[in-house]
Amino acid sequence: MSLPKPITDAIESLSDLPGIGSRSAERLIFSLLKNESGLDQKISTHIGNLRSGIYECEICHHFCEQKNTPSSQSRICSICDNASRDKKLLCVVESPLDLVALERTHEFKGYYHVLHGVISPLNKVQAEDIRVASLLQRVKNTPIIEEIILATSGTTESDATAMYIVRELQNIFTGRISRLARGIPSGGDLDYLDLGTLSRAMCERREF
Ligand SMILES: [Zn+2]
Repeated sequence: MSLPKPITDAIESLSDLPGIGSRSAERLIFSLLKNESGLDQKISTHIGNLRSGIYECEICHHFCEQKNTPSSQSRICSICDNASRDKKLLCVVESPLDLVALERTHEFKGYYHVLHGVISPLNKVQAEDIRVASLLQRVKNTPIIEEIILATSGTTESDATAMYIVRELQNIFTGRISRLARGIPSGGDLDYLDLGTLSRAMCERREF
């Protein structure tokens, strides 16, 4: 490419991101080069901060910041920290983006558990690689939970992951296990759904 190396490097690393092809990466980098308001510095600072200040919540594994008080440090997200939510409901999602999508519907008032992935033998992802063990431990330690909603996506791997979790839960949990109502396109990711579809799917969830 007949461009200076810093530009091709930036385009190359940006196009490593999912959903960004080399054309989009080019457009983004050129628009940054044209922008004179310091946007490139701002983006660089914010992205640089991602690794230093973000942790997984000790309870649900959603992303959070560390809270420092004079006597302690805790890594608890704002949802787990909110005692006024419904402690009887626990919703299991694949990714923090799915949690954010469900929160936007304002339909669900319980707590969450983020798996950070799905079991995928093809990609060498086993149950131990996602946050299933901590989910089971959490359910064991929280007898107040009455319903667990498996809000997984519509892919085959998501379905298989949900079935695995149901089997494990049945050994330790006697409450209701439900899943989102269909209306979710098969193969679809939750965070791409429009609010209405996702909201209805949560409202009309049914037993597994
Ligand atoms: Zn949390």
